[in-house]
Amino acid sequence: MRALLDAAAAWFLGAACPTCGADAAGACAACRAVLGAPEAFRVPWAAAGVPVVAAHAYEGVWASAVVAFKERGSRSLTDVLAGSLACAVAEVLAAGGDGVQAQPVVLVPMPSRATVVRERGLDTTALLARRAASLLDAVGLPARSARVLAHTRRVTDQSGLTIGERRRNLRGALRARRQVPGTVIVIDDLVTTGASLAEAVRALQAEGMRVAGCGVLCAALRRHPEHPG
Ligand SMILES: [Zn+2]
Repeated sequence: MRALLDAAAAWFLGAACPTCGADAAGACAACRAVLGAPEAFRVPWAAAGVPVVAAHAYEGVWASAVVAFKERGSRSLTDVLAGSLACAVAEVLAAGGDGVQAQPVVLVPMPSRATVVRERGLDTTALLARRAASLLDAVGLPARSARVLAHTRRVTDQSGLTIGERRRNLRGALRARRQVPGTVIVIDDLVTTGASLAEAVRALQAEGMRVAGCGVLCAALRRHPEHPG
């Protein structure tokens, strides 16, 4: 019976770890151990106007996991990544002073393009936000997720732009569809310069929402922030 269940799990989840390729039904124990031990550090170069906390640097197992989750929709990574994201969110709240503790905590995912969601079959950022909120809620921190942000227009490809050009490119690209009460934290999988997060924070604040910060899975910085890759 056990063998049958393992075979069923392997068929459903894939017989290889989505992160390292080892034989496993879903994420292997070694990768889970790495992904379940976040550093949750403040990202000083992410200029979003509010604290940005990343669960980990975009490297090694973490980078593979983000790519597998985002690009290949590897759902076996959802819980371990959401758990580490919840730690980053808790760090954002710890970094905030008085006045950012209004309850509940509302995790607002960065919006994904409809075409991308159709291709992948799911909105991975929204899924992470939803799961992280339920984990926080389960440990006694009232939290929920809300898909509040929407694109107002297409933006040109950001690669090759300086941080100033990115900001101009993104200005007004997002809007908040409604106002939600509570302490808002913007959620994304990856931060580079912070320009996209800054636009999200602007759009939410423009609707009168109180944004405590941003919680992201990974922080990447390959070049000088004025000349991002
Ligand atoms: Zn693995």
